[in-house]
Amino acid sequence: MLDFLDTRFPVMLDLTTVGNKTLLNYKLKLLFFINANFSNFKYFLFNMNVDKVLLATPRGFCAGVEKAIKALAWMLKIFPPPVYCYHEIVHNQFVVETFKKNGVIFVDDVNDVPAFAPLMLSAHGTAPTVEDQARLNFRIVINAVCPLVTKVHHEVKIRSKKGFSIIYVGHSGHEEAVGTMAVAPESVYLVETPEDLDNIPISNDSPTALLAQTTLSQDEWKDILDKAIIKFPDLWMPNRGDLCFATTNRQDALADISHLSDTVIVVGSANSSNTVALTKVATARGAKNVIRVNSADEIPDDLYGTVGVTAGASAPDELIFKVIEKLNPKFGYQEVGKVVEDEYFPPPPELRELIKATAKAMTAGIAFRAELTSPLDSDRDLSASSSLNLLKV
Ligand code: SF4
Repeated sequence: MLDFLDTRFPVMLDLTTVGNKTLLNYKLKLLFFINANFSNFKYFLFNMNVDKVLLATPRGFCAGVEKAIKALAWMLKIFPPPVYCYHEIVHNQFVVETFKKNGVIFVDDVNDVPAFAPLMLSAHGTAPTVEDQARLNFRIVINAVCPLVTKVHHEVKIRSKKGFSIIYVGHSGHEEAVGTMAVAPESVYLVETPEDLDNIPISNDSPTALLAQTTLSQDEWKDILDKAIIKFPDLWMPNRGDLCFATTNRQDALADISHLSDTVIVVGSANSSNTVALTKVATARGAKNVIRVNSADEIPDDLYGTVGVTAGASAPDELIFKVIEKLNPKFGYQEVGKVVEDEYFPPPPELRELIKATAKAMTAGIAFRAELTSPLDSDRDLSASSSLNLLKV
């Protein structure tokens, strides 16, 4: 009599056609069935029916983020907690939480850091005046800025000394933009849209340079560049532009799979500029549905077809593979991309000196010792993901 409960669509039975008492019995039995088979019931309503995953390559950690994470992990090995870090070391919730659990205190004001304490400056770059302040009070300061951000700081410094007005394309309030503009605040004008170019007080015939935040989307940059070239005919720009290789490689790889995907998932934090740029690229390149998630827990249950997956430059591979695990694609995943990144940025010089000095102190008094080697000699072979996994908590 209740055979229908064994079918795949029990709730579709029209119960109004049976008598009142029988109806109650049926309803109770139906509720019991739904409770007892909740996971199956949920499957009918929210069917994750993903055929395959296209995994953009490269994705996730870039050389600058690798450098910064490994450097902070080293600080935790050298110093007892707390170790301080000015701003989030990189913009990723998982990475920041992992460091917090292991004794890192993140601050937005270097004056909150006690004298003599170890202090790391984040990958996004720090305003020169803030760095000077940080180095007061005998704090042990290590600067984990990405060398590609340093390059833009250098361009701002040189161009402003030469009398240029500088148009800086970036996001207002982003730490990289704040740090870069602070190198020569009197010469730099921030623009976020092509329309902003009409409102900056620079005359067309004065020497003008165009620089940018490293993590912009290429479309965002191009629209402003096209207009700036027309408005300022003698515009100076660095030969290779300021958008970094990691940003452009990740965007190009994603552009190739976006139009093939029913949904694109971008793994990364909301405050990560290059993560947000990836969501814009996916939308512009034809993805029907674009979702940014911090982790696999945030993926909706009703995805289907082909899902493209990528991650911002500060998101670890671990999070990306948990996303694929949750999607559970029928035909597995396929890596798509042409570029192999092998860039490597060595640890900050202050950290190298510190570790060398520590090793020397530890071996002092040993008369015949082999040539001193630094644990950082093998830094290139260690990934930031392994460094995070080696932390205690
Ligand atoms: S995204 Fe580019 S600029 Fe930013 S840390 Fe990575 S390599 Fe450096």
